[in-house]
Amino acid sequence: MIQKNLIIIGSGPAGLTAAIYAARANLRPVVISGLQPGGQLIQTTEVENYPGFPDGILGPDLMELFKKQAIRFGAESVDSAVEAVDFSQRPFKVKVASTDYTARAVIIATGASSVWLGLPHEQELIGHGVSSCATCDGFFFRGKDVVVIGGGDSAMEEATYLTKFVNSVRVVHRRKELKASKIMQDRAMNDPKISFVWNSEVAEILGEDKLKGLKIKNVETGETTELKTDGLFVAIGHKPNTDIFKGQLELDRKGYVTAGENSQTSVEGVFVAGDVHDYHYRQAVTAAGFGCQAAMDAEKWLSSR
Ligand code: NDP
Repeated sequence: MIQKNLIIIGSGPAGLTAAIYAARANLRPVVISGLQPGGQLIQTTEVENYPGFPDGILGPDLMELFKKQAIRFGAESVDSAVEAVDFSQRPFKVKVASTDYTARAVIIATGASSVWLGLPHEQELIGHGVSSCATCDGFFFRGKDVVVIGGGDSAMEEATYLTKFVNSVRVVHRRKELKASKIMQDRAMNDPKISFVWNSEVAEILGEDKLKGLKIKNVETGETTELKTDGLFVAIGHKPNTDIFKGQLELDRKGYVTAGENSQTSVEGVFVAGDVHDYHYRQAVTAAGFGCQAAMDAEKWLSSR
């Protein structure tokens, strides 16, 4: 059993910013990096909206810099995933592969994952025409014709946001009614750049190194048509990475970790930061901000005990 002051679970912008602040507060934090060290930014190419990088920076390079900065101040990084936690006793127990840790405080920064269609080529073409974030990647599609998949608020928001840059947006939805709120539906439907393809799903993603188009199947008639497009934005929801916390912490209806004041979860001494709690902003810079807050809150809480 290895005893630690503070364990940070997750190594995206939230977890690593928490690590920088906690390390500089002399807490000697351990970051358990997870199955995808660096988090969602590892899957992106160019990041152009992270302040301080006027020429942009590649997502993996940005996360490498975060990690280097945390390690410089004494954070320890463990490239493994947490298998189980026990927050019912103090110190808390965190099981990582073959090692058991105890921690006086824990920061949860496990993030969220985009839900993808699960079709061949989809993952390989992320950053090469396929995206799940219009705020991040919309800019690269200036003057192009793109497709958004989904019928919820995210899909409407992505489609509407994309009209700032693109020539046209086609929203492909598997039913003939949208799930999105009325106001978001109206906004999208009244936008001359947005059109809808109803009762349809993506049957195939076309392109090897770069997205070329989609095969769209009408679910009622079974008819398949080919659609040439430069961009595919998948907006069918996000899933918080909270499976290991079920039964240990309060989660909301959709599985996100709930938090009260000061990044505090339902268990005193367990703090939360980033997309695993925040499903609204979901930006690297906001996640980093939440990571800073959680580390300061954890430090204050630890020193008060
Ligand atoms: P939702 O679960 O609300 O909607 C997902 C959409 O994707 C649905 O239309 C669903 O179809 C469709 N879908 C799901 N799986 C597939 C699939 N495999 N293939 C094709 N289509 C699929 O997720 P959102 O991300 O849109 O929203 C999540 C939450 O966040 C909601 O509560 C929403 O209100 C909120 N939100 C609010 C915003 C705002 O207010 N500005 C912006 C964005 C999100 P079907 O309709 O058939 O189920």
